[in-house]
Amino acid sequence: MPGIKPRIAVSSCLLGHPVRYDGTDKYHPFICQHLAKQFELIAVCPEVDAGLSTPRPPVRLTGNSQQPLALGIEDAKLNVTSMLTSFACEWLSQAKNIAGIIVKSRSPSCGLSDTPIFDQHGQIKNHSAGLFTQMLIQRYPQLPVIDEISITDPKQRDAFISKVKNAIPL
Ligand code: SF4
Repeated sequence: MPGIKPRIAVSSCLLGHPVRYDGTDKYHPFICQHLAKQFELIAVCPEVDAGLSTPRPPVRLTGNSQQPLALGIEDAKLNVTSMLTSFACEWLSQAKNIAGIIVKSRSPSCGLSDTPIFDQHGQIKNHSAGLFTQMLIQRYPQLPVIDEISITDPKQRDAFISKVKNAIPL
């Protein structure tokens, strides 16, 4: 519809919100200054919006890459998996008019494909999507998704933008 910008969800830290585990952000000038002219950007932080505090103990994905657990790095007894998956379920079922999503790389929640999965000894076994993005892709495999690294590559960025403009929003 003319005048209405397509809506893209973006990991909150990329929009400059200080929501990372250490209270910092990952402000991304290209997303905030250029994409904001063409799209309505909706912030989502799958950790803080799930109810975790900022700052908070850092977590990492551990175990099976299909169904990893989000466990504390300093205290492996800290398990926030069900909190994060419950929020993801709720957000995904309530998402409205989202035509694409830009996620933060390597995050245990937001990573697209490069989030490390650790074994019980703290060694990296492989890489996968973060918990939130994994559930998003399973539920909406047609939704255009990209991370903040790929969005700076002109070819990948143009392909993403074109898909968003032609997407049927959630
Ligand atoms: S959970 Fe996602 S949005 Fe929140 S701080 Fe981590 S990478 Fe950023």
